[in-house]
Amino acid sequence: MRLILLGPPGAGKGTQAKRLEDLHGLKQLSTGDMLRAEIASDSTLGRRVESILASGDLVSDDIMVEMIAHRITKPDCEKGFILDGFPRTVAQAEALDDMLHNHKLDLDAVIEVQVNEDELFGRIAKRAEEDGTRPDDNVEVMKNRLQVYKDLTAPIIPYYTGKGMLKPVDGMQSIEDVAKVIDTILDA
Ligand code: AMP
Repeated sequence: MRLILLGPPGAGKGTQAKRLEDLHGLKQLSTGDMLRAEIASDSTLGRRVESILASGDLVSDDIMVEMIAHRITKPDCEKGFILDGFPRTVAQAEALDDMLHNHKLDLDAVIEVQVNEDELFGRIAKRAEEDGTRPDDNVEVMKNRLQVYKDLTAPIIPYYTGKGMLKPVDGMQSIEDVAKVIDTILDA
């Protein structure tokens, strides 16, 4: 099974992806986690992207497409994967289509987790308080991340709706209830 989890920052994509990873033996591919690992290891790429992540802007499509193209062919993705945080632009979505096509792979579903803005700000404030390790988990950067989501990532929604792949889920429910709805979609 190959899935995309789509939704604004704080929608709970990572939480749901981890659960699906355990339940279905899929690999969670979080591009945010991959970039943070590059930064933590002080790699050339990490140094290039550090200030971009801190600002809430997007890393270039070229870098992200190359990162995912390389990753989905690894053995741990053979049983399937959950893309968490990719694609984030229509150009990335188009590049993903090409790469899946080249590997003769299909996408099973695009799950859009919908959460309203007030709730997102509340969740990020809580995450900043409890975790405190992400420099982009603060109100100012969060405003930019949300704007970037609206301007550059939300256009992916009609892209996948047009392909009949989009499955919207009400992300305002409890983690357990969101999980149940996702399971129902995947069982169908
Ligand atoms: P996330 O953990 O998914 O919220 O990602 C954290 C940050 O990493 C984002 O705010 C972007 O700066 C960068 N990032 C993650 N995934 C992508 C992507 N697919 N395209 C561009 N930038 C990304």
